[in-house]
Amino acid sequence: MKLCRFNEGRLGLVEGRGVRDISAALDCLPAYRYPLPPYDVLIANLDRVKAAIPSSPEIPLTAVKLLSPVANPGKIIAAPVNYQKHIDEVKTDVQLHQNNPAHTITIQKAGLFLKATSSLAGPGEGIALRHLDRRNDHEVELALVIGKTANNVKARDALQYVAGYAIGLDITIRGTEDRSFRKSPDSYTILGPWLVTVDEIPDPGNLNLRISVNGEERQNSSTRYMILSVPELIELASSFYTLYPGDIISTGTPEGVSPIVPGDTIVASVEKIGTMEVKVRAQAGIR
Ligand code: MN
Repeated sequence: MKLCRFNEGRLGLVEGRGVRDISAALDCLPAYRYPLPPYDVLIANLDRVKAAIPSSPEIPLTAVKLLSPVANPGKIIAAPVNYQKHIDEVKTDVQLHQNNPAHTITIQKAGLFLKATSSLAGPGEGIALRHLDRRNDHEVELALVIGKTANNVKARDALQYVAGYAIGLDITIRGTEDRSFRKSPDSYTILGPWLVTVDEIPDPGNLNLRISVNGEERQNSSTRYMILSVPELIELASSFYTLYPGDIISTGTPEGVSPIVPGDTIVASVEKIGTMEVKVRAQAGIR
């Protein structure tokens, strides 16, 4: 099942080149009162929502604005240096490593990092670049969405805690600052084009992922080259903090990162998920 959010927060079921508005299924969500829980209430109640899907007419996907399929993640977790060839390209390019030793150590030593939840946007919202005097790069990644509360989970059990997968773009300002700072401007985390439920992707460890900019291919690899696999990333993350429904883990990028500038059009694909187009612009009000 492919679930999207579109336009002004409608919930959609994607079928082929169309989407059906199934927002009425959201009526089954419990009535929450302040303070809200620290997780995404749609993902936490996904089974209920799936059981309440109404019939509705199909709209062409090209006619809707796609938002992030997760609206309110408690955390956006990301893996640095999780593909060896990306580590190699960083090591040999000062523009990438900026003489920061944190960029060239292994993921086992580097651990994971967090991105601001306010950085999250959908493909239809585009990327608004800041600090145009510095290099802004694309990173295409497989992203997973946690479905059930997970704490100290072992890798062998980890896939039971996944709700589904989406394409993640981890947009990055190159520089010396901490990753969480450089990768957290508004719209620097794109999640889309929809959430593919876990039953459609039993093995996340063998998926082609690629990205082009203005029609020119920049990254093309496979999740089989990840240093820490999806289950191992969940084990590592949940050994440090509790994972909640809707938490996103972006699993790292392969080689081929390169600059993007306002006016660019990005097309990103992950096998078994789909393809999304994302426009790049300058953040309003900056020089
Ligand atoms: Mn990344």
